[in-house]
Amino acid sequence: MKIAVVGVQGDVEEHVLITKKAMKKLGMGGEVVATRRSGVVSKSDGVIIPGGESTTISRLIFRDTVASEILQLANEGKPVMGTCAGLILLSKYGDEQVRKTDTRLLELLDVRVKRNAFGRQRESFQTVLHFKGIGEVDAVFIRAPAIVDAGKEVDILATFENYVVAAKQNNVLGLAFHPELTNDTRIHEYFLKMADF
Ligand code: GLN
Repeated sequence: MKIAVVGVQGDVEEHVLITKKAMKKLGMGGEVVATRRSGVVSKSDGVIIPGGESTTISRLIFRDTVASEILQLANEGKPVMGTCAGLILLSKYGDEQVRKTDTRLLELLDVRVKRNAFGRQRESFQTVLHFKGIGEVDAVFIRAPAIVDAGKEVDILATFENYVVAAKQNNVLGLAFHPELTNDTRIHEYFLKMADF
């Protein structure tokens, strides 16, 4: 099992460490690599797009073949997870901010996202969510986006207030929060099990 973490910007190392921990817990062998180069994602069994700044990550992945390799992996049915800015990139539709900044999206999740949905008053906060298939999880939100609309094919996994904050469409998983910033490996284990086909 080889998992790539798209390491162009953001909380890359945290994802690498917790994915390794989750692999160990599941007794799965394999490696987790951070990459910003072409040719690594395409040879992986799954890929994670971390948080960071969606405008910057978008520019960097579309500048070379990383974006098309993610699309290829998704097409092959391999699991793709995006957290926070990563969720924005996975989405099919953005909001005014996404349009204004000309942020290109991967369009793998049939949802509409709103950037910085929780506003300035609550730039970052932690809460407990009920995550379908897992149970209660601590969730850290940092200038988080939220899903405001989801197509029929999308499985809603968690909500917070009036927003969807975790969703899955076949092999594509999008989270508005940062599971890599807690010590809980269950969401990464959930992702790895999606790869274990
Ligand atoms: N607000 C950021 C964006 O819109 C996302 C924040 C994050 O990934 N922590 O790109």
